[in-house]
Amino acid sequence: MNADLEPLLMIPGPVALSPAVRAAMAEPPRSHTDPAFVEVFARVLANVRAVCGADTDHQPFVVAGSGTLAMEMAATNVVGPGQRALVLQTGVFGDRMAQILGRRSVAVRRLAAPAGHTISAEAVAEALGSEVPDAVFLTHVDTSTGVRVDLERIARVVRGAGPLLVVDGVCSVGGERLLQAAWGVDVVLTASQKALSAPPGLALVVASPRALAARRALAVPPPLTVDFEAWLPVHRAYQEGRASYFATPATGLVRALDAALAELVAEGVDAVVERHARVASTVRAGLDALGIRPVPQDGDTVANTLSAVWLPEGVGADLVGRVAERGVLVAGGLHPDLRANSFRIGHMGWVGTQPALLERTLRAVAAAANCASTADGA
Ligand code: PMP
Repeated sequence: MNADLEPLLMIPGPVALSPAVRAAMAEPPRSHTDPAFVEVFARVLANVRAVCGADTDHQPFVVAGSGTLAMEMAATNVVGPGQRALVLQTGVFGDRMAQILGRRSVAVRRLAAPAGHTISAEAVAEALGSEVPDAVFLTHVDTSTGVRVDLERIARVVRGAGPLLVVDGVCSVGGERLLQAAWGVDVVLTASQKALSAPPGLALVVASPRALAARRALAVPPPLTVDFEAWLPVHRAYQEGRASYFATPATGLVRALDAALAELVAEGVDAVVERHARVASTVRAGLDALGIRPVPQDGDTVANTLSAVWLPEGVGADLVGRVAERGVLVAGGLHPDLRANSFRIGHMGWVGTQPALLERTLRAVAAAANCASTADGA
């Protein structure tokens, strides 16, 4: 490994950070009541709405925690014990959502695709035809398979049938087209460390008026730390330029997220999404030249935020370690059915504005793959 270069983070989150975001992280901590922080938090909430395509009557929540906490917050605020949920499972994160719902004593029905396949809007319509649940849960891009579902079409079907729609956008928000208000998505959840290009540690949830009403109607409230009702007055206060307190916000991380969102919004949300599509095709063309093909099998379902790809002929899962020896960190397979024969490269967020870093990644993969197949005698 070249000691002059710090390892380049090309896993599907956390991601490499821009100089401005790193500088924001190095600032001294602020009080949550500091007027400068109030201004920062208000701007973050407005920009989170913009990135999700949410309206002013949608409420963004930004709390300390990872994406899994955002999943828990979304799930436990919209359904409670005895209610019914349909979970569309295109990888391990749908399974995780089903577990969260199960622990809340929600009756869960799963519609699961084999690894690498999507779930079509038609299949969702059929599932809803036999029984309409209280809420439908899906993963926009499942990071374990690299599969993106057709959210716009599925949302139309779910909307027509009536249940709430909750979207895990941890691996999509800020990298894939997602128009929460226009498409009628009730909850979008995400985390700071992926396409938003901020450090890990913040859970983001954006709730529609219907989702907020569903929380108010719950017979059994969610855990206090993730309760929309507990956080609502606090977030509304910051939006109106006043400090408020329920549980101490992660002020430093919110400052870093502010710097990241400022860059994203300055480039333009649509432009950023288009850039992700361009970067994804550049990376995929480079991989294709090495004989490395995407795991997603169904037409237009290959995510733009990461590439989940098959290991090339004659190369084992130790490829990931060989790439790391060349100064670039990529990820192994995560899905149990894909662990032995695939690997994943994240190409979301700021890194996509740096062609030299993408080239460095492809060079490292090429060198590692060649060296691996030579070592295997292939
Ligand atoms: N959902 C998806 C689609 C994810 O990719 C991840 C993280 N890889 C999560 C949820 C969970 O997020 P976290 O690891 O931050 O808890």
